[in-house]
Amino acid sequence: MLLNDVRRDYLLDRWVVIATARRKRPTDFISKREVRRESKCPFCPGNEHMTPPATLVYLSSRGSILKETEHGDTRFRDWLIRCVPNLYPAFSPPGEDVDLEVDDSGSGCVRRAAVGHHEVLIESPIHDEHLGSARIIQLIHVINACIDRYRYLSSRPYVKYVSIFRNYGADAGASLSHAHTQIMAVPFIPKIVSEELGSSRRFWSVNEECIFCNVIKMEMDGPRFVWANKSFVVFAPWASVHPFEFWIVPREHQNIISEMDEGEIRDLAEAMRVCFGGLKRLLNDPSYNLGFHMARREYYHWHIEVYPRLAIWAGFEKSTGTYINVVSPEDAASNLREAFQEEEEIIHSGSPS
Ligand SMILES: [Zn+2]
Ligand SMILES: [Zn+2]
Ligand SMILES: [Zn+2]
Repeated sequence: MLLNDVRRDYLLDRWVVIATARRKRPTDFISKREVRRESKCPFCPGNEHMTPPATLVYLSSRGSILKETEHGDTRFRDWLIRCVPNLYPAFSPPGEDVDLEVDDSGSGCVRRAAVGHHEVLIESPIHDEHLGSARIIQLIHVINACIDRYRYLSSRPYVKYVSIFRNYGADAGASLSHAHTQIMAVPFIPKIVSEELGSSRRFWSVNEECIFCNVIKMEMDGPRFVWANKSFVVFAPWASVHPFEFWIVPREHQNIISEMDEGEIRDLAEAMRVCFGGLKRLLNDPSYNLGFHMARREYYHWHIEVYPRLAIWAGFEKSTGTYINVVSPEDAASNLREAFQEEEEIIHSGSPS
Protein backbone atom coordinates (compact mmCIF):
# COMPACT_ATOMS: atom_id res chain seq x y z
CA MET A 1 0.00 0.00 0.00
CA LEU A 2 1.21 3.48 -0.89
CA LEU A 3 1.78 5.63 2.19
CA ASN A 4 1.15 9.35 2.16
CA ASP A 5 3.95 11.86 2.92
CA VAL A 6 3.98 14.19 5.90
CA ARG A 7 6.05 17.26 5.07
CA ARG A 8 7.27 20.20 7.12
CA ASP A 9 7.37 23.73 5.67
CA TYR A 10 10.77 25.25 4.78
CA LEU A 11 10.43 27.82 7.57
CA LEU A 12 7.29 27.25 9.58
CA ASP A 13 6.64 24.58 12.13
CA ARG A 14 3.68 23.53 10.04
CA TRP A 15 3.01 20.03 8.78
CA VAL A 16 1.03 18.99 5.78
CA VAL A 17 -0.11 15.57 4.67
CA ILE A 18 0.48 15.16 0.95
CA ALA A 19 -2.24 12.68 0.16
CA THR A 20 -0.68 11.19 -2.94
CA ALA A 21 -2.60 7.98 -2.41
CA ARG A 22 -5.77 9.64 -3.70
CA ARG A 23 -4.22 11.34 -6.66
CA LYS A 24 -6.31 14.11 -8.17
CA ARG A 25 -6.09 15.84 -11.54
CA PRO A 26 -6.86 19.47 -12.43
CA THR A 27 -10.21 18.48 -13.96
CA ASP A 28 -11.33 17.08 -10.58
CA PHE A 29 -11.37 20.64 -9.25
CA ILE A 30 -13.19 22.42 -12.02
CA SER A 31 -16.56 23.70 -10.92
CA LYS A 32 -19.01 26.09 -12.50
CA ARG A 33 -18.32 29.70 -11.70
CA GLU A 34 -21.15 31.88 -10.65
CA VAL A 35 -21.11 35.16 -12.55
CA ARG A 36 -22.21 38.01 -10.34
CA ARG A 37 -22.49 41.61 -11.35
CA GLU A 38 -23.01 44.37 -8.83
CA SER A 39 -25.86 46.70 -9.72
CA LYS A 40 -23.61 49.72 -9.41
CA CYS A 41 -19.90 49.16 -8.94
CA PRO A 42 -18.35 51.71 -6.56
CA PHE A 43 -14.94 51.19 -8.17
CA CYS A 44 -15.97 51.88 -11.78
CA PRO A 45 -15.22 55.27 -13.39
CA GLY A 46 -18.06 57.74 -12.81
CA ASN A 47 -18.79 56.35 -9.32
CA GLU A 48 -15.76 57.86 -7.57
CA HIS A 49 -18.04 59.69 -5.10
CA MET A 50 -19.16 56.30 -3.72
CA THR A 51 -15.75 55.85 -2.07
CA PRO A 52 -13.93 58.04 0.49
CA PRO A 53 -11.35 60.46 -1.00
CA ALA A 54 -8.39 58.58 -2.49
CA THR A 55 -5.06 58.44 -0.66
CA LEU A 56 -3.37 58.01 -4.04
CA VAL A 57 -4.48 58.52 -7.64
CA TYR A 58 -2.40 57.86 -10.76
CA LEU A 59 -3.27 60.16 -13.64
CA SER A 60 -1.76 60.03 -17.09
CA SER A 61 -0.11 63.29 -18.06
CA ARG A 62 1.57 63.53 -21.45
CA GLY A 63 3.15 60.10 -21.24
CA SER A 64 4.18 60.31 -17.59
CA ILE A 65 2.33 59.52 -14.37
CA LEU A 66 1.03 62.26 -12.14
CA LYS A 67 0.39 61.23 -8.52
CA GLU A 68 -2.42 62.99 -6.65
CA THR A 69 -4.37 62.79 -3.40
CA GLU A 70 -8.08 63.62 -3.05
CA HIS A 71 -9.57 65.76 -0.27
CA GLY A 72 -13.16 66.52 0.73
CA ASP A 73 -15.46 66.31 -2.28
CA THR A 74 -12.74 66.46 -4.94
CA ARG A 75 -12.65 63.35 -7.12
CA PHE A 76 -10.33 62.96 -10.12
CA ARG A 77 -11.61 61.57 -13.41
CA ASP A 78 -9.70 59.58 -16.06
CA TRP A 79 -7.50 57.87 -13.48
CA LEU A 80 -5.31 54.83 -14.07
CA ILE A 81 -5.16 53.66 -10.43
CA ARG A 82 -7.05 54.73 -7.29
CA CYS A 83 -6.22 53.79 -3.74
CA VAL A 84 -9.01 54.49 -1.24
CA PRO A 85 -9.67 53.81 2.45
CA ASN A 86 -11.89 50.76 2.97
CA LEU A 87 -15.49 51.74 3.80
CA TYR A 88 -15.57 49.13 6.57
CA PRO A 89 -11.99 49.20 7.85
CA ALA A 90 -10.60 46.56 10.19
CA PHE A 91 -7.87 49.02 11.24
CA SER A 92 -8.12 52.83 11.43
CA PRO A 93 -5.55 55.60 11.92
CA PRO A 94 -5.22 56.77 15.52
CA GLY A 95 -7.21 59.80 16.60
CA GLU A 96 -5.66 62.13 19.15
CA ASP A 97 -7.39 60.49 22.09
CA VAL A 98 -6.51 56.89 21.25
CA ASP A 99 -4.53 55.02 23.84
CA LEU A 100 -1.82 53.11 21.96
CA GLU A 101 -0.60 51.21 25.01
CA VAL A 102 -1.01 47.47 25.19
CA ASP A 103 -3.40 46.55 27.97
CA ASP A 104 -2.16 43.35 29.58
CA SER A 105 -3.59 42.79 33.04
CA GLY A 106 -1.94 39.40 33.33
CA SER A 107 -5.30 37.65 33.02
CA GLY A 108 -4.40 36.31 29.57
CA CYS A 109 -6.68 38.83 27.89
CA VAL A 110 -4.45 41.32 26.12
CA ARG A 111 -5.93 44.19 24.18
CA ARG A 112 -4.81 47.21 22.23
CA ALA A 113 -6.54 49.63 19.87
CA ALA A 114 -6.82 48.37 16.27
CA VAL A 115 -4.84 51.30 14.88
CA GLY A 116 -3.54 51.13 11.36
CA HIS A 117 -4.87 51.49 7.85
CA HIS A 118 -7.10 49.44 5.61
CA GLU A 119 -7.08 50.48 1.96
CA VAL A 120 -8.33 49.20 -1.35
CA LEU A 121 -6.16 49.60 -4.41
CA ILE A 122 -8.41 49.77 -7.48
CA GLU A 123 -6.18 48.19 -10.09
CA SER A 124 -7.78 49.51 -13.24
CA PRO A 125 -10.64 51.68 -14.49
CA ILE A 126 -11.71 48.57 -16.43
CA HIS A 127 -13.99 46.48 -14.18
CA ASP A 128 -12.68 43.06 -15.29
CA GLU A 129 -9.00 43.85 -15.75
CA HIS A 130 -7.82 41.14 -13.34
CA LEU A 131 -4.22 39.89 -13.14
CA GLY A 132 -4.87 36.96 -15.47
CA SER A 133 -5.95 39.14 -18.39
CA ALA A 134 -4.49 42.58 -17.59
CA ARG A 135 -2.23 44.62 -19.85
CA ILE A 136 1.40 44.44 -18.67
CA ILE A 137 1.56 48.26 -18.58
CA GLN A 138 -1.42 48.36 -16.20
CA LEU A 139 0.19 45.75 -13.95
CA ILE A 140 3.30 47.94 -13.77
CA HIS A 141 1.09 50.77 -12.45
CA VAL A 142 -0.42 48.37 -9.90
CA ILE A 143 3.00 47.30 -8.62
CA ASN A 144 4.26 50.89 -8.48
CA ALA A 145 1.17 51.95 -6.52
CA CYS A 146 1.72 49.05 -4.06
CA ILE A 147 5.29 50.27 -3.58
CA ASP A 148 4.12 53.87 -3.01
CA ARG A 149 1.56 52.84 -0.40
CA TYR A 150 3.96 50.38 1.23
CA ARG A 151 6.55 53.14 1.64
CA TYR A 152 4.06 55.53 3.18
CA LEU A 153 2.22 53.09 5.45
CA SER A 154 5.28 51.22 6.71
CA SER A 155 6.81 54.51 7.82
CA ARG A 156 3.90 55.31 10.22
CA PRO A 157 5.20 54.97 13.80
CA TYR A 158 2.22 52.84 14.97
CA VAL A 159 2.49 50.40 12.05
CA LYS A 160 4.45 47.17 12.60
CA TYR A 161 3.52 45.32 9.43
CA VAL A 162 1.97 46.10 6.04
CA SER A 163 0.09 43.25 4.42
CA ILE A 164 -0.70 43.45 0.70
CA PHE A 165 -3.13 40.77 -0.46
CA ARG A 166 -5.75 39.98 -3.04
CA ASN A 167 -8.97 37.98 -2.80
CA TYR A 168 -10.32 36.81 -6.14
CA GLY A 169 -13.70 35.17 -6.59
CA ALA A 170 -16.57 34.64 -4.17
CA ASP A 171 -15.01 31.46 -2.70
CA ALA A 172 -11.96 33.52 -1.73
CA GLY A 173 -13.97 36.16 0.09
CA ALA A 174 -14.04 38.88 -2.57
CA SER A 175 -17.19 40.90 -1.99
CA LEU A 176 -16.72 43.10 -5.06
CA SER A 177 -15.71 41.78 -8.47
CA HIS A 178 -13.92 44.92 -9.73
CA ALA A 179 -10.16 44.22 -9.99
CA HIS A 180 -8.66 45.27 -6.66
CA THR A 181 -5.95 44.56 -4.10
CA GLN A 182 -6.20 45.24 -0.37
CA ILE A 183 -3.60 46.75 1.90
CA MET A 184 -3.73 46.43 5.70
CA ALA A 185 -1.24 48.20 7.92
CA VAL A 186 -1.39 46.63 11.38
CA PRO A 187 0.10 47.36 14.84
CA PHE A 188 1.73 43.91 15.32
CA ILE A 189 3.67 41.36 13.28
CA PRO A 190 1.27 38.60 12.13
CA LYS A 191 2.01 35.04 13.23
CA ILE A 192 3.09 33.48 9.92
CA VAL A 193 5.39 36.38 9.06
CA SER A 194 6.80 36.38 12.56
CA GLU A 195 7.62 32.66 12.32
CA GLU A 196 9.20 33.11 8.87
CA LEU A 197 11.29 35.96 10.28
CA GLY A 198 12.45 33.84 13.21
CA SER A 199 13.52 30.93 10.98
CA SER A 200 15.22 33.25 8.47
CA ARG A 201 17.13 35.00 11.23
CA ARG A 202 18.34 31.72 12.77
CA PHE A 203 19.42 30.34 9.39
CA TRP A 204 21.23 33.60 8.55
CA SER A 205 23.13 33.65 11.84
CA VAL A 206 24.23 30.00 11.59
CA ASN A 207 24.98 29.80 7.84
CA GLU A 208 25.63 33.43 6.93
CA GLU A 209 23.22 33.14 4.05
CA CYS A 210 19.55 33.46 3.28
CA ILE A 211 17.29 30.44 3.61
CA PHE A 212 15.14 31.61 0.70
CA CYS A 213 18.15 32.05 -1.60
CA ASN A 214 18.93 28.43 -0.75
CA VAL A 215 15.37 27.29 -1.42
CA ILE A 216 15.48 29.03 -4.82
CA LYS A 217 18.70 27.22 -5.72
CA MET A 218 17.13 23.90 -4.79
CA GLU A 219 13.75 24.48 -6.50
CA MET A 220 15.13 26.00 -9.75
CA ASP A 221 16.19 22.62 -11.15
CA GLY A 222 13.83 20.36 -9.28
CA PRO A 223 10.45 18.71 -9.83
CA ARG A 224 8.56 21.63 -8.24
CA PHE A 225 9.88 24.29 -10.63
CA VAL A 226 7.10 26.03 -12.56
CA TRP A 227 8.36 29.10 -14.44
CA ALA A 228 11.04 31.81 -14.37
CA ASN A 229 12.13 34.98 -16.09
CA LYS A 230 15.26 37.08 -15.56
CA SER A 231 14.19 38.40 -12.15
CA PHE A 232 11.62 35.96 -10.73
CA VAL A 233 11.19 32.27 -10.15
CA VAL A 234 7.90 30.48 -9.57
CA PHE A 235 7.65 27.08 -7.89
CA ALA A 236 5.21 24.90 -5.96
CA PRO A 237 6.51 24.89 -2.36
CA TRP A 238 7.71 21.59 -0.87
CA ALA A 239 4.98 21.51 1.82
CA SER A 240 2.16 23.17 -0.15
CA VAL A 241 -0.93 23.49 1.98
CA HIS A 242 -3.30 24.23 -0.90
CA PRO A 243 -3.78 22.21 -4.09
CA PHE A 244 -1.86 24.03 -6.88
CA GLU A 245 -0.28 26.52 -4.46
CA PHE A 246 2.69 28.41 -5.92
CA TRP A 247 5.13 31.10 -4.80
CA ILE A 248 6.64 33.93 -6.84
CA VAL A 249 10.11 34.82 -5.51
CA PRO A 250 12.66 37.43 -6.66
CA ARG A 251 15.95 35.82 -7.72
CA GLU A 252 17.92 38.67 -6.15
CA HIS A 253 18.07 38.79 -2.37
CA GLN A 254 15.64 41.60 -1.50
CA ASN A 255 13.82 42.33 1.78
CA ILE A 256 10.89 44.44 0.53
CA ILE A 257 9.20 45.31 -2.78
CA SER A 258 10.53 48.86 -2.90
CA GLU A 259 14.02 47.46 -3.63
CA MET A 260 12.96 46.45 -7.16
CA ASP A 261 14.35 48.48 -10.05
CA GLU A 262 12.34 49.31 -13.18
CA GLY A 263 13.38 46.17 -15.03
CA GLU A 264 12.43 43.96 -12.08
CA ILE A 265 9.04 45.68 -11.77
CA ARG A 266 8.40 44.93 -15.43
CA ASP A 267 9.49 41.33 -14.92
CA LEU A 268 7.12 41.00 -11.95
CA ALA A 269 4.27 42.40 -14.05
CA GLU A 270 5.04 39.78 -16.70
CA ALA A 271 5.26 37.04 -14.06
CA MET A 272 1.86 38.03 -12.63
CA ARG A 273 0.24 38.00 -16.06
CA VAL A 274 1.73 34.60 -16.94
CA CYS A 275 0.94 33.03 -13.54
CA PHE A 276 -2.63 34.21 -13.21
CA GLY A 277 -3.46 33.76 -16.89
CA GLY A 278 -2.03 30.24 -16.61
CA LEU A 279 -3.95 29.47 -13.42
CA LYS A 280 -7.18 30.60 -15.07
CA ARG A 281 -6.41 28.41 -18.08
CA LEU A 282 -5.60 25.32 -15.99
CA LEU A 283 -8.46 25.40 -13.47
CA ASN A 284 -11.24 27.33 -15.22
CA ASP A 285 -10.71 30.65 -13.45
CA PRO A 286 -10.60 29.47 -9.82
CA SER A 287 -10.98 31.69 -6.77
CA TYR A 288 -7.69 32.38 -5.06
CA ASN A 289 -5.96 34.46 -2.38
CA LEU A 290 -2.50 35.87 -2.70
CA GLY A 291 -0.35 37.58 -0.12
CA PHE A 292 2.98 39.39 -0.11
CA HIS A 293 5.41 38.52 2.69
CA MET A 294 8.08 41.16 3.29
CA ALA A 295 10.02 42.84 6.09
CA ARG A 296 12.82 45.36 6.43
CA ARG A 297 15.32 42.83 7.81
CA GLU A 298 18.57 41.97 6.05
CA TYR A 299 18.03 38.24 6.54
CA TYR A 300 14.53 38.20 5.03
CA HIS A 301 13.63 37.56 1.39
CA TRP A 302 10.28 38.91 0.17
CA HIS A 303 7.92 36.75 -1.88
CA ILE A 304 4.32 36.29 -2.98
CA GLU A 305 2.33 33.22 -1.94
CA VAL A 306 -0.67 32.19 -4.04
CA TYR A 307 -3.38 29.92 -2.64
CA PRO A 308 -6.00 28.64 -5.11
CA ARG A 309 -9.25 28.01 -3.19
CA LEU A 310 -10.07 24.48 -4.21
CA ALA A 311 -10.22 22.61 -0.91
CA ILE A 312 -12.56 22.84 2.02
CA TRP A 313 -10.85 22.82 5.38
CA ALA A 314 -12.75 21.06 8.08
CA GLY A 315 -12.34 19.89 11.67
CA PHE A 316 -8.85 18.42 11.46
CA GLU A 317 -7.32 21.44 9.67
CA LYS A 318 -9.11 24.05 11.74
CA SER A 319 -8.51 22.43 15.11
CA THR A 320 -4.87 21.44 14.57
CA GLY A 321 -3.35 23.80 11.98
CA THR A 322 -2.25 20.66 10.11
CA TYR A 323 -3.45 20.31 6.55
CA ILE A 324 -4.24 17.59 4.08
CA ASN A 325 -3.38 18.46 0.49
CA VAL A 326 -4.72 16.04 -2.11
CA VAL A 327 -2.42 17.29 -4.91
CA SER A 328 1.30 16.74 -4.49
CA PRO A 329 3.38 19.87 -5.22
CA GLU A 330 5.24 17.84 -7.86
CA ASP A 331 2.00 17.04 -9.72
CA ALA A 332 0.80 20.61 -9.27
CA ALA A 333 4.06 21.97 -10.68
CA SER A 334 3.97 19.80 -13.77
CA ASN A 335 0.41 20.94 -14.59
CA LEU A 336 1.11 24.59 -13.77
CA ARG A 337 4.33 24.50 -15.84
CA GLU A 338 2.47 23.45 -18.96
CA ALA A 339 -0.34 25.99 -18.49
CA PHE A 340 2.09 28.86 -17.77
CA GLN A 341 4.15 28.03 -20.88
CA GLU A 342 1.04 28.16 -23.06
CA GLU A 343 0.07 31.46 -21.48
CA GLU A 344 3.53 32.92 -22.06
CA GLU A 345 3.42 31.92 -25.73
CA ILE A 346 0.06 33.66 -26.14
CA ILE A 347 1.28 36.84 -24.46
CA HIS A 348 4.40 36.92 -26.61
CA SER A 349 2.58 36.09 -29.81
CA GLY A 350 1.24 39.61 -29.81
CA SER A 351 -2.18 39.47 -28.22
CA PRO A 352 -2.91 42.57 -26.11
CA SER A 353 -0.13 43.25 -23.59
ZN1 LIG B 1 -16.34 48.11 -11.50
ZN1 LIG C 1 17.64 35.68 -0.08
ZN1 LIG D 1 5.98 33.44 3.20
